[in-house]
Formats: sequence, structure tokens, C-alpha cells
Amino acid sequence: DGSQPPKALRVILAQPRGFCAGVERAIDIVERALNKFGPPIYVRHEIVHNRHVVEDLRARGAVFVDELDEVPEGAWTVFSAHGVARKVVQAAADRTLPVIDATCPLVAKVHAEGRRYASQGREIVLIGHAGHAEVEGTIGQIDGTVYLVQTVEDAEKLQVQDPAKLSYITQTTLSVDDTRGIISALKLRFPEIVGPDVKDICYATQNRQEAVHHLAALVDLILVVGSKNSSNSNRLREIGTELGRPAYLIDDASALQAEWFHGVTKVGLTAGASAPEVLVQGVIEGLKQFGRVDIELLSGTPEDVKFKLPAEVAEV
Ligand code: SF4
Repeated sequence: DGSQPPKALRVILAQPRGFCAGVERAIDIVERALNKFGPPIYVRHEIVHNRHVVEDLRARGAVFVDELDEVPEGAWTVFSAHGVARKVVQAAADRTLPVIDATCPLVAKVHAEGRRYASQGREIVLIGHAGHAEVEGTIGQIDGTVYLVQTVEDAEKLQVQDPAKLSYITQTTLSVDDTRGIISALKLRFPEIVGPDVKDICYATQNRQEAVHHLAALVDLILVVGSKNSSNSNRLREIGTELGRPAYLIDDASALQAEWFHGVTKVGLTAGASAPEVLVQGVIEGLKQFGRVDIELLSGTPEDVKFKLPAEVAEV
């Protein structure tokens, strides 16, 4: 009758993918605060950069605000996983707001590293993306000069006070390959610069990027589940594209478009560190509209990282 026989799609799932320990902890903190203290719980900035997570918590009584002046007196306030500047911590203390800090411990580690370099009298180069919440928090955690460098060109143009007293730190969710390039450019210009190599890029970011490298070799197209403002998710999509595979960043199954799948038989599927697994499963369901779906799981680095909860919500 002219109808096409159903196509078969091989879906290869990246491993690891989705939630990291810092995101699990941050969401857990808001949920526990809602249970323990009752709504509303105010959250400064999106707790993690995922639309579904934010909408879900909002429906349960979390109120997301851009700045602390939107928080009423005495209301429980959570700082997001991305961290905050010291002036935000101070503003909350000035108002004696009860605060629970959901800053990822791996972001806090970069803050401490930056402060240590500053205390040695070094200026600091922060490799990261302008305007990202983590970058604003990190700059605001360090007393002293912080130069933001986003590209190799920025590194080549950078002017500093004293090249012998220079250090660098990085955002946690950068592309490992791009960051190596920027660090090389910095070392070329400032041979005495000190820094952590790419160790500030967190384990979750590195593992998910490595998995996409493997995935790209096996598939025709890559889907990354994650929100548009998720830094680590964007990096996963970019890696797919750089490796010559069409790659799409999608919030959920509703974003799937039939024309992406013309001539495609093998689909790679992964998720950013802030994207819930239920959305990945939803995408698998959604792919069934294009044909039979066979699922295969890539082997990858197992993760067993877990962070301690803050005292305020450790016991609920
Ligand atoms: Fe922490 Fe890395 Fe997760 Fe960010 S992506 S919350 S730094 S573990």
C-alpha cells in the first residue's frame, strides 16, 4: 500500500550520563528543606540548570529568585549548586536569613583554590564562560584580581600586572579539550603561571565527555538530554558536533523532530549532569514513533561519588 516498513533504530546509551553527585545533593537539599521546614523554600538561582527539575520543585513549594532582596525576612533560603559570591553570603548574614548552602563541594574546592592563590599574592586567570552563575560566584569568592578568559584568543591578548605572580583556575563544566588548548596558550605567554591543569573540571563532566567520545564513534546522531542553560550539557553536544555527528540538545521527548532521523539507524543518547533519568527514558519512548527501538548500553567509568548533606537537612 506504499507505506514504509517500520524502521529499526539502535539506541546506544552513554555510560555514565545524567545526574552527578553535586546535582543529586542540591535537589535532595531542597526536597529535605521542603519536608522539614515546609514551603515556601526560597532558592537563589535555579538550583540546577534543568527546566524539569525546577518546575517540579516549584510545584512543591520552592520559590526561585534571582537575588536575595526578593526573599522575605526570616525565610529559609538555599544557594544553588553553582555557588555564590561572598557578597551574597554576607547579604544573607546581614539579614540573618536562615541559609542552606547547596554549592557543589567541587565548586567550593575551586573557590578555596582561588583564594589560596590570591593569598600568595598571585593574580588569577579564571577560565570559564562569562555570565554563568558559577563564574560569577567564583569571581566573587576571591579577594584580588581575577581575569576571565574564555578562549585561546583571550589568553593571547591577556595583560597582567606581574607574569611571575600568576595562577589559573577553571570552571568545573568546561570542555576538557578546549581547556587544555587555553592552558597551553597561557603557558606560552606566561611560562611561570601555576594552576591545576584540567583537574578543576569535575569528574562528572570529564566522564560524560569521555563517554560521548566513545559514543560518537558508534552512532549516526547524538541526542543530549539537558536544558539550554546547562553548561556541561552544551559541551556534550559540542563534542558530538566536533566529532562529525549531528548532535541535538533537547529538554525532553517533545523536542524530537522526524527529519533528524532520515537515514539514521544508530542513535547515541546521553544526558547532562542536571538531567533526570526519567527524561532519558521518555526520549527512548519518544523514539519509538520512528520505528522499532533496540537499546544497547555502552560500558563506561563507574561513578560512586557521594557528598555529605549540610547539617541543616542532614537529618529530616
Ligand atoms: Fe558538582 Fe560537577 Fe555536578 Fe557541577 S557537574 S554539580 S561541579 S559534580
